Amino acid sequence: MIQDIFPYRLDHAFRDREPEPEDCFFSFRGGEVLLRVSEDGSRRIPVFHDLGMPFAEVRRLAVFLFCVDGVTVYLLRQQGDVLPEREGMQYLPLRELDGILPGWAYFAGATALHLAGWYERNVYCGRCGGVRAQDRGRRSLSCPDCGDTVYPAIAPVVMVAVTDGDRLLMTKYGDRPLPQWVLVSGFVEAGETLEEAAEREVFEETGIRIAYEMIEAMRLSEKAFW
Ligand SMILES: [Zn+2]
Repeated sequence: MIQDIFPYRLDHAFRDREPEPEDCFFSFRGGEVLLRVSEDGSRRIPVFHDLGMPFAEVRRLAVFLFCVDGVTVYLLRQQGDVLPEREGMQYLPLRELDGILPGWAYFAGATALHLAGWYERNVYCGRCGGVRAQDRGRRSLSCPDCGDTVYPAIAPVVMVAVTDGDRLLMTKYGDRPLPQWVLVSGFVEAGETLEEAAEREVFEETGIRIAYEMIEAMRLSEKAFW
């Protein structure tokens, strides 16, 4: 899984910290990430001198994301216009981060893209239309006009390994271009326990009522997924 970056560790603790030139800066155009591409084809996450903009502008756009082993990572928030590509700087699919150094780049990029989407969708207050502002000391955005506060949303999912003797129940989606067999899975609904979500999803997708003594959270391996 992409979060398996040991011995590195991604530290999510929010910090009120101004960016420094040696920090890393993620910037996105849709699902693509802006990377520094050297003449030999090697890629890396940009630092300040790759961006080609005044540092005051970087500070205006930057929002703290997280730290990974002493490296501080920022998001350059963009509204409407995106940073243009320039020589040695290209927007590339997020997958391009897989395999480049440092070893945590892909996981960091996926996490940054998740947060970038949340920031983009929450520029304006959904209650009164005011412009939200970053709160100090925590990952949240508040409306100065009505006080409404939002936090990054996550969507818990269950994946269920249903067994019958030595057989494992697998499914194929009828409405998606996904050729491989997969385990039953689905989102947890509001007010549901993980176990209840597992029971409901298996019944909804296969019509089978599961009986269990214990449902274990199943950790997907890359082998199982790919
Ligand atoms: Zn408001």
